[in-house]
Amino acid sequence: MKSHKHDIQDTVDRMRHETKPRAVYILLSAVFFFTVCCLLSALSSCSPKERMFKKSRALMDTFVTITVVSDSENDSEKAIDSAFMEIEKLEKMSSFFLPDSEISRINKSAGISEVKVSPEILELLTRARCVSECTGGAFDITIGPVEKLYDFYKKTKPEWRATRQCLRLVDYKNLIIDRNKSTVFLRKRGMLIDPGGIAKGYAADKAVETLKKNGITSGLVAVAGDIKAFGLKPDRTRWKIGIRDPRAEDEGNNIMATIELSGKAISTSGDYERFFILDGKRYHHILSPKTGLPAPQCQSVSIITRDASFTDAFATGVFVLGPAEGIKVLEKTGFEGIIVDSRGKIHMTPGTSEKVEFKKTS
Ligand code: ADP
Ligand code: MG
Repeated sequence: MKSHKHDIQDTVDRMRHETKPRAVYILLSAVFFFTVCCLLSALSSCSPKERMFKKSRALMDTFVTITVVSDSENDSEKAIDSAFMEIEKLEKMSSFFLPDSEISRINKSAGISEVKVSPEILELLTRARCVSECTGGAFDITIGPVEKLYDFYKKTKPEWRATRQCLRLVDYKNLIIDRNKSTVFLRKRGMLIDPGGIAKGYAADKAVETLKKNGITSGLVAVAGDIKAFGLKPDRTRWKIGIRDPRAEDEGNNIMATIELSGKAISTSGDYERFFILDGKRYHHILSPKTGLPAPQCQSVSIITRDASFTDAFATGVFVLGPAEGIKVLEKTGFEGIIVDSRGKIHMTPGTSEKVEFKKTS
């Protein structure tokens, strides 16, 4: 009796020997190829094309632009509006100026009592503290009393005596966060939290979270210079972000380099955002918590990593630290940085130069 193994062998042999004429093969291949082509074109004409939808709004004292990739105008509109609502909510919670914001309530209770806060403010302040620890206090969210002494509209700077007095109130170690009780307490009377160096990045993170919850898989949120990108554009390429030349005179042509991102954020802090020139000296809004004076070592700092709250706060902190110390800190965290120092020289973390495309200077 023939074994089972032999049966299989026979079948294989039969298949090998039952060779069809060449012409039949060619005909079959052509039919197959034609069918695949028809199927593909039918599929692409059935599924609506992905497009980019974009909206801008004035929020957080700046311009916020949200772009999403979607095949439905309706869905993208809903998602973008939810993300704007999230930013609006955060602005109401974290504003330094609105008297009823959670930050204002903490500031008013400084040295008196702890304040119960929302999970968002708890998270924002915990992140701020973490950046302070990583930057040795160069980023310090309790910079408020000193920052308040500057008026960038009236172009006035404080007397050194006032600066020195206010500096005594600046110390992130006196910001007590109790995560179990969800409370925050500023130890000394007169202390002020100024969330200006982290709130916009945090808002970009939260806006992206909201877009994703609404089913968006690709988009870009730009809260002024705090930008977060995820997914790909309809042409399947990453999002190209421009990095400004801090001393560009032509507003319409101020990009010094570009970088392509997906699943990452970038923030740029610059001495050109809010400043005035007095007696030939530039006074800008990024202050050293040690001296209370505008940090002198950089013109701009761009940081790249996953979370925009970190890119925002580290850009401010590294700006204060300067290029040498700043690069060391960034290497420890694994974040990427592009620093333009006070003379205009560019410093980068190792490996970053391969990812940045600099504009050719003529
Ligand atoms: P921008 O607000 O222009 O995006 P930044 O993100 O660098 O720029 O934040 C600067 C703001 O951060 C200042 O306006 C002030 O509110 C706050 N700030 C200034 N110096 C510091 C500092 N050393 N640490 C933390 N926050 C700071
Ligand atoms: Mg910042």
